[in-house]
Amino acid sequence: MSRLYWIFAIAVAAALPFFVTSPYYLHLCVTIAIFAIVTLGLDVVFGYTGEVSIGHAALLGIGAYTAAVLSMHFGIGFWPAIPIAIIVTAGFGALLALPALRVTGPYLAMVTLAFGTIVQILINEMVDLTNGPLGVKFNTPLFVDLRSYSNVLPFLDMSLKRMKEMEFFYVTAASLLLTILVINRVLASHFGRAFEALRDSPIASDCMGVSVYKHKVIAFVLSAALAGYAGALFAYSEQYIAPNNFTFELSVQFLLGVTLGGRKSRLGPILGAVIIVFLPNLLADIGLFRIIAGCIAVLALVAGAITALRNRENLPRVLIPIILCLAFFVFSLMLQKITDYKLAVFGVMILFVVYYLPEGIVGFLSQLWARRGKSLAVDEAVANSPEAQALTLQAGGDKSDAALLSVDSILMQFGGLKALDGVSLSIKPGTIHGLIGPNGSGKSTMMNVLTGIYVPTAGAIRFAGDAIAGLKSPEIALKGIARTFQNVQLFGELSVLENVMVGLHHTYRSGFFSVALKTQLARHEEARARARAMNILRFTGLDGLAAEEARNLPYGKQRLLEISRALALDPRLLLLDEPAAGLTAPDIVELMAIIHKIREAGLTIVLIEHHMDVVMSLCDTVTVLDFGQKIAEGQPADVQRDPRVIEAYLGGGAAAHAV
Ligand code: ADP
Ligand code: MG
Repeated sequence: MSRLYWIFAIAVAAALPFFVTSPYYLHLCVTIAIFAIVTLGLDVVFGYTGEVSIGHAALLGIGAYTAAVLSMHFGIGFWPAIPIAIIVTAGFGALLALPALRVTGPYLAMVTLAFGTIVQILINEMVDLTNGPLGVKFNTPLFVDLRSYSNVLPFLDMSLKRMKEMEFFYVTAASLLLTILVINRVLASHFGRAFEALRDSPIASDCMGVSVYKHKVIAFVLSAALAGYAGALFAYSEQYIAPNNFTFELSVQFLLGVTLGGRKSRLGPILGAVIIVFLPNLLADIGLFRIIAGCIAVLALVAGAITALRNRENLPRVLIPIILCLAFFVFSLMLQKITDYKLAVFGVMILFVVYYLPEGIVGFLSQLWARRGKSLAVDEAVANSPEAQALTLQAGGDKSDAALLSVDSILMQFGGLKALDGVSLSIKPGTIHGLIGPNGSGKSTMMNVLTGIYVPTAGAIRFAGDAIAGLKSPEIALKGIARTFQNVQLFGELSVLENVMVGLHHTYRSGFFSVALKTQLARHEEARARARAMNILRFTGLDGLAAEEARNLPYGKQRLLEISRALALDPRLLLLDEPAAGLTAPDIVELMAIIHKIREAGLTIVLIEHHMDVVMSLCDTVTVLDFGQKIAEGQPADVQRDPRVIEAYLGGGAAAHAV
């Protein structure tokens, strides 16, 4: 984020209370800033990791009630309450996330939904601790009494109430800026890349040693901590809190705010917070609501008219939203009392956003302006530094005779189907071992078993002396087994360079706080990883495309990028699942040269491939599978002549072209 942006933000925050002199509107600004802290945190979970939380109002409540308990029972004031509220709420966040995120699916949404209900009931019922439905009162703190300087600085001559309000505004604004700073840093670090990687391809993240589970929990705990921070601020800003401040409705509004404002940006969630704060006012006044609905209807008609004049073919597409906007206006005229329909209006807004503004307002606007978001540019100075040039593949060059990988009678059963039936393999270090067989013979299943995606029904696997059957994918990856996938699994919204940097995740030692504080270690590691990633891209010939988004690459380059990313793991064993599938002839030549170079660098490779010419020219040993059983093994030329192999391929029919 540029320095100018920060100077502008600080200047706006500093000047605001001098323009907003009404206590009511200044309080609205404070509330917007507090809610923005929540929505920014929620965006980390929702926008970046793709998980849904419907419990952020409850987390806000935990923060607020932590401040309440501290003040009521212990006489502890504002400043100590902030860190304690953050820690307590982060703790609750961890308690929710640890079990809920262990499995994939909509569990986090369900758990947070239940949590929201329970928290509200508990606050109501635990009267001794929380004062129950009667609520808790707070005094707005006066941080420093600057009025004594008013003889020197005349603008400080104001009432005590106004001074408190202004000071509280500045504390909240500073909190918001601090939140933005921390989130920017975290999202730009290896943590942020992990969040996006696990959303785009959880399987590939795990197989790159980036634990999906761990990083989802980190994202949620960060988000909860921010909600707790906001909660403590909220308690002191409202001066009175009660259980019904933290309803399910507010949680839905937070989610709506992030979606409507625009995910994966800082501006979007802040805009969302503005909408959340103004929405209840809007929905409390039927006259105002009708005016807004009328404006929306007029805008929709204008948009329709422009479309009709300019590009008629788009008319059917915009017709439905226009009719909906008009219907919305008619609906607003028919309503007698708006408060009863609040939730229905939220619901309609969410539907509308999902169908017609999937990127939110900020996303939509930045699409009109230019390509959105994060700079994908590569720092040439770092890329050309001697450090980057000096770094090459770090494989040790396995030369010993003992098998690097030995697979012993693996059985992999899916219901009644034996996808692998007593298969044994022994892979010598420094070799390229081909794994071939007709479609459905169990080759990919073997790779999934080797990388911990499937746990074998029976049998043992030893890698470099360690038993690895039953270990989780990230653990196996970090032991030195990297892979590519038959169906390309890239992190589509990350750049080519960032994809490789996800592979380098294991090289980072700096933790969360190191990143948030941008320590020397964090900066050094980031620069080194960037240089190293650039170097790997040079090795595979993708350096020219480093700044491109992975999903925009041509197919052949996507396959090469997967290999580059796998190399970043510093593996001893590289598993390639049909790397040449779908490639053009020149691409295959390029690929073969790269595989050859990788072997030269000392890596051991298992290659699944249908193109026999590739197998024949690259592999030292070939194993043939058919219906989950090993039917032949040996030198490529011998295997090719084996009658059982010919029979399997010709009999299988589907893959006959390959031989
Ligand atoms: P290929 O040799 O073409 O890579 P696979 O290993 O993908 O073959 O598949 C081998 C067999 O195992 C196929 O019959 C496939 O349908 C089956 N199989 C693979 N994964 C699963 C799964 N998760 N559940 C059920 N059956 C599976
Ligand atoms: Mg396969």
